Amino acid sequence: MSPPTGIALLGATGSIGATAQRVVARHPARFRFVAMTAHSDRAALAAADARWRPAVVGLVNPGNEPLPERWSHGRECLVEAATHDDVAIVLNAVVGAVGLEATLAAVSAGKRVALANKESLVMGGALVQRAMCSGGGTVVPVDSEHSALLQCLAGRVGGRGPGLLPVAGVRRFIITASGGPFREWDAKRIHQATLADVLKHPTWAMGRKISVDSASLANKALEVIEAHLLFGVPYERIEVVVHPQSIVHSMVEFEDGSVVAQLGVPSMELPVLYALGYPDRITDDGVPRFDPVASSPLTFEPVRHDLFPTLGLGIAAGVTGGAAPAVFNAANEAAVARVLAGTMAFSTIPGAIELALSRLGHHSGEDLPALLAADAAARVLVQEYR
Ligand code: NAD
Ligand code: MG
Repeated sequence: MSPPTGIALLGATGSIGATAQRVVARHPARFRFVAMTAHSDRAALAAADARWRPAVVGLVNPGNEPLPERWSHGRECLVEAATHDDVAIVLNAVVGAVGLEATLAAVSAGKRVALANKESLVMGGALVQRAMCSGGGTVVPVDSEHSALLQCLAGRVGGRGPGLLPVAGVRRFIITASGGPFREWDAKRIHQATLADVLKHPTWAMGRKISVDSASLANKALEVIEAHLLFGVPYERIEVVVHPQSIVHSMVEFEDGSVVAQLGVPSMELPVLYALGYPDRITDDGVPRFDPVASSPLTFEPVRHDLFPTLGLGIAAGVTGGAAPAVFNAANEAAVARVLAGTMAFSTIPGAIELALSRLGHHSGEDLPALLAADAAARVLVQEYR
């Protein structure tokens, strides 16, 4: 039997990081952690280190206390972990654009990136595709909707996996959205929402940033762009439908009118396992089981674009291309940070993003320095937004 596949887990202390540790613990003969990183949660990283003993342990922001001798620190530890010789799969589960450098380094070094960090693909889609071509690496999605699309496409993506060749035979992608905590709220109530309301996601337990993104539907905008980049399907053939139960994770309509959907309970265990094992399916009795009767009824509704304009802003940025998706992403990240810090109301997120796109959305974003400049300028605008 071959030795276990080496994994670098970037964002080991987060929600996806914890899910990944649960999944890998059930498959010790197949996978092992070679590297783990975290931002600043030293105690949680120390616990993961004690449990897995990876060769590389990186804490981006160690504060003032000395680190164990084996540990690395600073932003560079993400790339160090992602490019380690014994790593075959980089599970990128950090939050935000900060994950881009590691995604680029990993695919350039020929690794598989199991990608939860959608922000890095949205920001640097063309660069990631170029690096995949030259470096030989691949991107396999962890996001549940894209995992569903990949499973529905069952073998129709090119030999090296998604991300390089447009898939043939697809009429339409139908991406599902839970609708978030404000699905049934009116404009006045959304305007008065507290941070606790924003973070109360109805179906998924996730990190704080993606929880805010789910309430504004910015998350769905990022996912439409992600789907376009991963599978080469034009934007006009990607639809979003609200599905409050989060059981149907997405659907593909083929040219003959057949619609294939992927179903499961709202848990990230299966998408993580599938991305690690792709294209194989790994036997796993630990993934929560689906019961059709208990999950009934399954319902679908249109998106209320008037109340959730961030979705349309993000899709328009995707269609514009160039630096626009990076500007959308950076403006959203900066706005979410302010909402989480209590210095901006949730309902002002779309206005802040719109301002950034109107000022910076036409920039070209031809290379990494251009994208980083657009990203930084968008953050400044949102920081000053009143
Ligand atoms: P989280 O906030 O729970 O965890 C984030 C992780 O990234 C932590 O380990 C943290 O230490 C690390 N991190 C944060 N800032 C960092 C920085 N500047 N540098 C290096 N590391 C940093 O977030 P999460 O919910 O696990 O989400 C992670 C990613 O996965 C996000 O891109 C999110 O959109 C995506 N995602 C999450 C879910 C989910 O169910 N949680 C589902 C789909 C996609
Ligand atoms: Mg998702």
